[in-house]
Amino acid sequence: MNNTAFVRVTLSAIRENLSVVRALCKNSRIMATVKANAYGHGLLEVANALESSDGFAVARLHEALDLRRAGIEHRILLLGTLLDEAALATCSRFNIDVTAHDSISVTRIASQATRMPLRVWLKLDSGMHRVGLPPRAFVEADHLLSANTGVIELVHMTHFSSAGDMTTDAMDRQLQCFAECHATNPRAHTSLANSAALIARPETRGDWVRPGIMLYGDNPLGFTEGLTLKPAMRLSARVIAIRDLATGESVGYNSLWTSERPSRIATIGAGYADGYPRHAGNGTPAWLNGHFGSVAGRVSMDSIGVDITDCGPVNVGDEAVLWGPELPASKVADHASTISYALFTAVTQRVTREYRA
Ligand SMILES: *Cc1c(COP(=O)(O)O)cnc(C)c1O
Repeated sequence: MNNTAFVRVTLSAIRENLSVVRALCKNSRIMATVKANAYGHGLLEVANALESSDGFAVARLHEALDLRRAGIEHRILLLGTLLDEAALATCSRFNIDVTAHDSISVTRIASQATRMPLRVWLKLDSGMHRVGLPPRAFVEADHLLSANTGVIELVHMTHFSSAGDMTTDAMDRQLQCFAECHATNPRAHTSLANSAALIARPETRGDWVRPGIMLYGDNPLGFTEGLTLKPAMRLSARVIAIRDLATGESVGYNSLWTSERPSRIATIGAGYADGYPRHAGNGTPAWLNGHFGSVAGRVSMDSIGVDITDCGPVNVGDEAVLWGPELPASKVADHASTISYALFTAVTQRVTREYRA
């Protein structure tokens, strides 16, 4: 164990978080979102742990193929991406659900389905303006695809732009838009909700829900009464040096932190090259032996300085938790002007990974 930075993933936490989704959405099937290497938690490890999910959503074809090659037989949904004819033939062959999200993909999918069947998620742009068909084109595409006998399942899908606040007018307008478009072919299945929506707006649960971040233990709404999620990832790093500074001494590049009292500083062996956010400023918490220290000075490539003056005894070799069950990633993210999703997906290859069942 020569490394100093570790990611430990507790798979039982992810399974328990799936049970939380199941309990909330008793009448929906669950498409567990495992794109981006399962939000940095490990695609195959997570998919195997989530055996009882009804399917897995990914963002790239190679992620879908990695799941199939590993013997995963669940439904797999490829979210909106570029799909040429060869990619669509591969989706038919490997039984991968595809997303029709613009006129080009609708045409190509319709023609592929006449050669070999496909399950199709038709995406409505109900207001996010990222991917998806505007209402009129959506309804036309629905007519085309629902008349195609090679389309063996059709799901009407949309995605919400509100992050966190689920009570906005924009959210209501998106729901209304979806309801009107879906009403033109109510036999199609429905899928609207990501984590935030399925937690806060029961009416979005539909036939399929697509939770991502909550499976990994972060509630995108911050806090919800009666909802307990377990953080699955712990990023920790060893203390590689300790020094005592007098008042007025600085730490790190550009001297961005200066002691206002005699201080003890631990140098922790993880930096931005491990995926710790470079923009985590002075005061970002780090957990050491039951106490919270705080980042002091600029995050370096390989290390960070942490003020441990109030942390009690700390020794070289001790492990600091940078985020995990002891310290929510969302809290660290707040200090770095980012979100937990970005922290999880940014952990680099250099970090040692361990899995606990
Ligand atoms: C990533 C993604 C999700 C999951 O979102 P969370 O906020 O992580 O729950 C659901 N649907 C689509 C289309 C996505 O791109």
